[in-house]
Amino acid sequence: MQYAPLKPRRPLASILDAVGNTPLIRLRSIERSAPHSRIYAKAEFLNPGGSVKDRPALQMVQEAVADGRLTRDRILIDSTSGNTGVAYSLVCAAMGYRCTLVMPANVSQPRKDITRAFGTELVFSSELEGSDGAIMLVRKMVAEEPDRYFFCDQYGNPGNPRAHELGTGPEILRDCPDVTHFVAGVGTTGTVMGTSRALKKYDRRIRCVALHPDDAMHGLEGLKHLASSIVPRIWDAATLDEHLTITTDEGWDMADRLAREEGLMVGHSAGANVAGAVRVARANPGAVVVTVLCDGASRYLPVLRW
Ligand code: PMP
Repeated sequence: MQYAPLKPRRPLASILDAVGNTPLIRLRSIERSAPHSRIYAKAEFLNPGGSVKDRPALQMVQEAVADGRLTRDRILIDSTSGNTGVAYSLVCAAMGYRCTLVMPANVSQPRKDITRAFGTELVFSSELEGSDGAIMLVRKMVAEEPDRYFFCDQYGNPGNPRAHELGTGPEILRDCPDVTHFVAGVGTTGTVMGTSRALKKYDRRIRCVALHPDDAMHGLEGLKHLASSIVPRIWDAATLDEHLTITTDEGWDMADRLAREEGLMVGHSAGANVAGAVRVARANPGAVVVTVLCDGASRYLPVLRW
């Protein structure tokens, strides 16, 4: 392999400078399922915390520090069992803030181990109440001790979609200015809301599609079945052009294909996003469809101990 001469580059001021600016990857093999269109995916699993959630965590913490909501004597708190917890933990560790996360007790051991490794404290809510139980418990803790905590509130904090409006969206336009469609699954809804806003501001004709799991008991971690959940305050369906439902099997099958055909070991919500992108690409010959690979498959493997 020939290497081009290296361009000068400065060291990063901290790991946080490695958040965002992820590569956009063309999925040439997957495109064979939609031969008249192009499909690209943004490799968010290459963020330092391993997921798309590094972006909103960093944005929300920076905004809260800037306007004084988060100070050294307060603890950042939020409910999350997943990638946001890793992202908050990484950002707080790198910036020197304390972090407490509320999560359902039945969250996998690796999730607990990873966040604790950053020095984060964990509080467990009832495993019977899922993520809504964790939301309710964090609200109760903050109401009881409002001066102790900064409630980051990823479901209601405009910094969450703003991270995508300022980052993910403009990066997509820089790398793929002829994008015609954007597809993303909904969890907190920050990714689809913020990215769609940036794309629509650039060109109102870019069609933005939200993907929804088909059932409350789905197996697409990171995604939320809004019809049976507490609806995030940042959600605004009117920004979007289309809503599709996606099954757990479609997401899992596409995650397998991405590993075997593209060398992309990604999680199941990333699989669901690409399955959604294929549907949109097939229905709109000539389309240039962009989606997001939210995290990597390693998140879903047990932590190995040597
Ligand atoms: N997939 C995964 C793996 C996630 O962790 C998340 C975040 N909850 C999402 C998808 C959905 O992203 P958002 O919260 O921005 O809607």
